[in-house]
Amino acid sequence: MEIKRGIPVSPGVAIGPALVLNTESFRIPQRFVEGDRLREEIERLRQALAEAAQEARENEQAVSEKLGRQYGAILGAHALLIEDPTLSKEVEALVRDHGFAAEYAVSRVMRRHAKALESLNSGLLAGRAADLFDIEKRILRKLLGQRREQLQHLREPVIVLAQDLTPSETAALDPHMVHAFATEHGGRASHTAIMAGALEIPAVVGLGKFVTDVSGGDTAIVDGNRGVLILNPDEETLERYENTRRSFYTFESGLGELRDLPGVTRDGARVMLFGNIEFPEEAAHCLTRGADGVGLYRTEFLYLGRQSDPSESEHLDAYLTVIRTLGPDRPVVIRTLDVGADKFATSNDPPAEERNPFLGLRSVRLCLRNLTLFKTQMRAILRASAFGDVRIMFPMVSTLLELRQCKMIFAEVKEDLEDEGIDFNPKVPVGTMIEVPSAAIMAEQLAREVNFFSIGTNDLTQYTLAADRTNETVATLYNPGDPAVLRLIKMVVDAAVKQRIDVNVCGEMSGEPIYTMLLLGMGLRQLSVTPHNIPEIKKIIRSVSVEEAVNVAEEALRLETARDVNNYLREQTRRILPEVVS
Ligand code: PEP
Ligand code: MG
Repeated sequence: MEIKRGIPVSPGVAIGPALVLNTESFRIPQRFVEGDRLREEIERLRQALAEAAQEARENEQAVSEKLGRQYGAILGAHALLIEDPTLSKEVEALVRDHGFAAEYAVSRVMRRHAKALESLNSGLLAGRAADLFDIEKRILRKLLGQRREQLQHLREPVIVLAQDLTPSETAALDPHMVHAFATEHGGRASHTAIMAGALEIPAVVGLGKFVTDVSGGDTAIVDGNRGVLILNPDEETLERYENTRRSFYTFESGLGELRDLPGVTRDGARVMLFGNIEFPEEAAHCLTRGADGVGLYRTEFLYLGRQSDPSESEHLDAYLTVIRTLGPDRPVVIRTLDVGADKFATSNDPPAEERNPFLGLRSVRLCLRNLTLFKTQMRAILRASAFGDVRIMFPMVSTLLELRQCKMIFAEVKEDLEDEGIDFNPKVPVGTMIEVPSAAIMAEQLAREVNFFSIGTNDLTQYTLAADRTNETVATLYNPGDPAVLRLIKMVVDAAVKQRIDVNVCGEMSGEPIYTMLLLGMGLRQLSVTPHNIPEIKKIIRSVSVEEAVNVAEEALRLETARDVNNYLREQTRRILPEVVS
């Protein structure tokens, strides 16, 4: 049994066979064979080894002719390794003595050797480990033949394990078949993590190296509540986790009763709870979790995996799907395109590689350089406003001038629609995200020019602490509870209150139960969270009074380190609702 600790990014517990991505990219369908089939299995293994060696020899020749003998020799070495009798002996012994299926036995042996090479800490030998993975794949391909199962066509549920997953790879996962995932890289507020929340797949990221320790088919447990991955658990652990899984789902279904109750504190303050969505279909999740509307629609996901940018009518169709689901009275805050950095590209992205994309031409900066793209989206948002309570929001605004430019273009688009006689709401509320420290510092000036603020604590934390939100090696620095971040949030809320505009928090922080009392106490009366988290946050809101929350916030703001803040908030939340914190 091996236990790894990482960063929990999507709650829930799942137990199942591992599917190791990047190295395997297909699933090993069974782990054991019946005793009476062992001879047949060993015969199948020998044949696969012979075919794999033969294929490597053919590749050796083809590569030698194309690139030269020194390159062909690499594949020649692969063939020699596959033909090495000690390899077949080792694998056959696993089949014979443990009843392992040939695929599983091959994977176990190759990974053991690869791991031994990697542990020698020599760049050269670690490179040889990559050769072993290559050989493993070649043999598995021969063994599985037509039985190879691609990730998109899984027939049985799996736990996906990978070095990393991009947001688009994550978006393509089928939650019915992928019961959880765990990755070596990644941080708390990465877009991969956000996608996991949207798909409601339990997930742990930033676990550090483990992929080479796993064979496809090994049993894995992902505990998305505590950030733990367990490989090949013993009987006792397995049983304990079966129980945890059951009680987690009982707790979750208990929260369902809160759906039709409002978010009101014990002393009667109304707190609006909105959902964050990436796809129009998620609007339905908002309703089932009892959301008051959509507080953040991340429209960049409309651009995912496309060759060309979406047209005005494609934008409009998506927005109308959300409005139809929520009805005309629930607000829908549509955020304009926010691509770049760790998010995927549009087809119009600048071709030049940026040295520092997190500080580069991303988000609203990119839109201001590509007015056709920007105006197409604005037209669709305005057209959608004729059918529901639509609001527009600009991301990554860092200066007042930038905001004014966005508003000016928006005014031009309104004029165009008017000239064309197209219906829209001329009073569409305009908001800005506050997610760059400069915007937080200038909140008072910005507040005079918009109808609402939405604090993006994912980016605000990253830019305030200069700690990449996707990088697990700086995950201890990246902390929304850091006193520096809290001071900025306080400044923004105070500015909004002074100018009498709405203010909301839509970063992942607002869906983390330990921050609910703090945010309430700082004056927030709107939170926008992953729909799955709404009931839990609502439960906390309904369990406290504003006075209690203000005391908690005042004390938290006096503390000097993120660790002290988080410990204090965890204790306070445990006092109110122990089951949420444990
Ligand atoms: C944020 O930065 O907090 C935010 C909500 O935006 P995103 O996560 O899409 O960058
Ligand atoms: Mg952001």
